[in-house]
Amino acid sequence: MGYDTARFTCSVDEELLCAICKSVLEDPLQAPACEHAFCAGCIHEWLRHQQICPVDRRGLTPHELKQVPRILKNLLSKLTVKCENERHGCDGVVRLDQLHSHLSQCEHNPKRPVQCNQGCGLVVPFDELSQHNCVRELNNLIQNQNFKQEQLQAQIDEQRQQLNEQKREIQALKEMIRTMRVINLPQALPLLPSNLSQPDHYVNEIHQWLRGLQSARVTRWGGMISTPDAVLQAVIRRALADSGCPPTILNELMENAHERRWPPGLSTLETRQLNRRRYEQYVCRRIPGKQAVVIMACENEHMGESMTLDPGLVMIFAHGIE
Ligand SMILES: [Zn+2]
Ligand SMILES: [Zn+2]
Ligand SMILES: [Zn+2]
Ligand SMILES: [Zn+2]
Repeated sequence: MGYDTARFTCSVDEELLCAICKSVLEDPLQAPACEHAFCAGCIHEWLRHQQICPVDRRGLTPHELKQVPRILKNLLSKLTVKCENERHGCDGVVRLDQLHSHLSQCEHNPKRPVQCNQGCGLVVPFDELSQHNCVRELNNLIQNQNFKQEQLQAQIDEQRQQLNEQKREIQALKEMIRTMRVINLPQALPLLPSNLSQPDHYVNEIHQWLRGLQSARVTRWGGMISTPDAVLQAVIRRALADSGCPPTILNELMENAHERRWPPGLSTLETRQLNRRRYEQYVCRRIPGKQAVVIMACENEHMGESMTLDPGLVMIFAHGIE
């Protein structure tokens, strides 16, 4: 929609008018063949309904429209126009090409942003300042923020739920890995009902072995040997095998005798010292005749994942096992 001719303080040539709105061209575009010129807004709206030039009805599509010649643009920019805030008290008259920058600074613009000085400090349009109520505005602001916070909380809840689901999946996978350790056949996946007796058997075997081991009390956690040498490991392995440890987990238990395999709660001397008090809660089994204990994951679920290893781990001590 063009500029109302009544706002211009100079005479306006006929060819500077839009053929659709009959006002002074705003962002002018022209048809390629006939060179009829229109405001961009006017001609685009027209072409949405019928794709012809509104003056001579020749075929015309939006992407055929082109810029008007520079001379026409120059003529337009030199027209002098009254500020649109005249009725609000502005008596400014500017060149058309400076109208935009005048409007952005015009102090009679009823929509110019001003800061409330009644206490809230919010920036509001000038014409809304008389109706402005700090308490109401701040209330709205708080309600808005509450709403955003609720949305955020809902997102967090949803993510937490997804995380829990993933935890359950990981748990199920662990269960499956435990089973595969026994079956050791790739075709065992997915589990068939006929295979289900095998994990039971595996679990029973471990429980039976554990029942035969005495529970142990560690009196000096500081005596722990976190990096046992090969000889010491061989001795413990032998004792473990003699105790009836199922061969399916023997290797893994022995690999877990070294601190490089230990979980985060045990992995360094520093974390071990930090967690010292929690060690009292471990369920430990004595490896017969040795200063060593086995800590099985199935008996230590209360300790959490950062303190246990699957299927279990071996701890060797210099002394201090009862
Ligand atoms: Zn127009
Ligand atoms: Zn035309
Ligand atoms: Zn003005
Ligand atoms: Zn206020």
